[in-house]
Amino acid sequence: MMRILVTAGPTREAIDIVRFISNRSSGRMGYAIARVGARRGHEIRLVSGPVCLAPPAGVGAEHVTSAAEMLAALMERVAWCDVLIMTAAVADWRPAHPVAGKLKKADGTPQIELVRTPDILEEVGPLKGDRLFVGFAAEAGDPVPEARRKLRDKGLDLVVANDIARRDSGFETSTNRVSLVHARGVETLPLLPKEAVAEHILVRVEAMRRRAGH
Ligand code: C5P
Repeated sequence: MMRILVTAGPTREAIDIVRFISNRSSGRMGYAIARVGARRGHEIRLVSGPVCLAPPAGVGAEHVTSAAEMLAALMERVAWCDVLIMTAAVADWRPAHPVAGKLKKADGTPQIELVRTPDILEEVGPLKGDRLFVGFAAEAGDPVPEARRKLRDKGLDLVVANDIARRDSGFETSTNRVSLVHARGVETLPLLPKEAVAEHILVRVEAMRRRAGH
């Protein structure tokens, strides 16, 4: 049994009180990992951005909106886990100066200055210890070279790479075609339902954890 912390969905970065910047992540991959992980007997906690999905039965979920909130939720929870799986599509930029009210069209077209959001994996890196960290790499085109770079630069144990340029894969689909990239090599899986992809990821993580002597 492992304690697995899973992040899922997009984040939303406020422009004003009604508008935001976000992305097409549906949360389905992360929720599939949470559901399949619970079914495999693991203890799961989910930190979720805004999605239209109900948390799987028996899974405690914390709902967050922005990258900053997701970071704060993880800082509180990483110590609890054996494995962190960062499925969330964290927005890379946020408006520098979110407006407290609603921007009015009559005031003209706003120029929105963007700044980087915190890199969550980087920020929680110092808390890693002997935990396994799993990241995702969504790339348009062959994702494996970029996944290898992320494995190294982000100090990850496993990167799940998918080609989001394909229609049957990545965002807003129920299937995914991924490669699992780790220190021992690359496993390329066929097109599969997200639950089956989740099963492969968890089998791999369980093996890595056993190999590490747990
Ligand atoms: O570098 P890139 O954003 O493509 O890396 C993707 C991985 O990093 C994902 O696992 C994602 O959850 C995580 N990430 C993060 N903080 C960000 C952006 C992405 O932890 N600000």
